[in-house]
Amino acid sequence: MSELTIAVCPGSFDPVTNGHLDIIERAARIFDLVIVSVSRNSSKIPLFTIDERMQMLKESTSHIKNVEIDAFDGLLVKYAKRRNAQVIIRGLRAVSDFEYEFQMASMNHKLNDEIETLFMMTNNDYAYLRSSAVKEVASLGGCVRDLVPEIVLKELRHKFSNTVSTERGNYDE
Ligand code: ADP
Repeated sequence: MSELTIAVCPGSFDPVTNGHLDIIERAARIFDLVIVSVSRNSSKIPLFTIDERMQMLKESTSHIKNVEIDAFDGLLVKYAKRRNAQVIIRGLRAVSDFEYEFQMASMNHKLNDEIETLFMMTNNDYAYLRSSAVKEVASLGGCVRDLVPEIVLKELRHKFSNTVSTERGNYDE
C-alpha cells in the first residue's frame, strides 16, 4: 500500500476567513489528509481562544471529509514530522507575504529538509483578505458577511455585541 500524502496547514486562524477556507479546500483536493493546525506560539494577542478558533474551523470545514483540525506548539517541522506530514502548506496573497514566508520556509528546510513547504496562490477574490482586517472592520460595526463563514460571523457578533452588521453593505454610522 502506498503512503498517505499528508499536509499540515498551520496558522493563527484568528478567526478563519473565506481566504483560509479556499486554501484548505484546494489543498484537500490534492492531499489524502490536510491537518489544519492552530498555532499556540503566536506573538500576536488573539481575539479568540485556541478552542474557539478550533471550533470555528471544525464547523466551517465539516463539509470536507479529509480535513482534521488540531493545535500545536513548539517547532512546526517537529510537529509535521510527528503527524507524518510530508508537506507544509502556506497561502500567498500579495508580494508583501513573500519575504516573511521565504524566510520561514528556508528556516524550516534547514531544520528538516524532508518536509517541503508548498505555497498556494490566493484566490483573486480573497487577495486582500486577512483576519486582522476582518476583526478591525467587525469591531467598528462594518459588514464582513462575504468574508467569513457563517459561524465566524455569529461569533464576531457575539464578541462585539451590537456593533457587527449582518446586512450586506450596511455600515453603521
Ligand atoms: P499566520 O499568523 O501564521 O500568518 P494566518 O492565520 O494569518 O496565520 O494564516 C494562515 C495561512 O493562511 C498563511 O499561510 C496565510 O498566508 C494564509 N492565508 C491567510 N489569508 C489568506 C488569503 N486571503 N488567501 C490566501 N491565503 C491566506
